[in-house]
Amino acid sequence: MLTVSNYHYIRNSFTAKYQSIFGVTPHEFKKQLQLLKNQGMFIRPVDLLNDADEVLSPKENNLLVTFDDGLKEQFDFALPILDELNIQALFFVNSINFENKKVSTVHKTHLLRSIISSSELRMKLSEIDNFDFLEDEMQRARAIYIYDDEDNATLKYILNFKLNYKEQEFIIEDLFKKYFNELEVLETLYLSEQNLKYLAAKECLGSHTHSHYPLGLLNSDDIKFELANSKSYLENLTDSKIDILSYPYGTSEACTKQVADIAKDEGYKIGFTTTRGINTLAENHLLLNRFDCNDLIGGKNYK
Ligand SMILES: [Zn+2]
Repeated sequence: MLTVSNYHYIRNSFTAKYQSIFGVTPHEFKKQLQLLKNQGMFIRPVDLLNDADEVLSPKENNLLVTFDDGLKEQFDFALPILDELNIQALFFVNSINFENKKVSTVHKTHLLRSIISSSELRMKLSEIDNFDFLEDEMQRARAIYIYDDEDNATLKYILNFKLNYKEQEFIIEDLFKKYFNELEVLETLYLSEQNLKYLAAKECLGSHTHSHYPLGLLNSDDIKFELANSKSYLENLTDSKIDILSYPYGTSEACTKQVADIAKDEGYKIGFTTTRGINTLAENHLLLNRFDCNDLIGGKNYK
């Protein structure tokens, strides 16, 4: 069986006017890896690619660490710790940050929310639409964003699921320009092309699609583009094969069976969702489960 622990932000402190960026410190990261190491054996990404069944079938616990979003801090803070413990991890990146020199809308939103309150941002959104919230949507928002209070969960749900991505992009882009310099953020927030080549050479690079959209909500042509473009762009840039991906958001809405089938058609061999769970032989290789690091031993929500 295989247990996967997924990470996003890793930095020494998480302080902002409004708390919108969550993650682990390098110290917490190292401690968790040491705890996990007592529970099983870390595999290399290439082991999964070469023979997934051999990783999934044993009763013993195999472990894998993954990082989403291609953040520079993952390279700067996590990689030295991984090297020290002799662990190889997978880093999933969005090609839009490199090919189009654009900050992903999801990160623009995180940054805006660190300086603007949730209620203020919701007000800006309601100038565009009046977002009626049905009870089942409210429940869904709570279920997805279990680490957020109700204000934040509602806001995130509107942004990620109620607005279509064009609307969301339009609103956020406009706001973002008022407060941030996009090129500056690109350079400080994301891995460099050099970093990508380094990770690819170690067989530790994967795709997180092109633009970080919830694929399941797109039409099939757009899904295909998101998967194919990021694969070929990263392959050309790094002169390597990109056969593993993680789906942005990773929820059941974002990675449907149709999405997984298209990913397979496009040549991906392994795909990761954010459905919590251990993987066994029964799993679709294009829809493997992952735990948020908070849910595993040493994590903030581990009981
Ligand atoms: Zn992501």
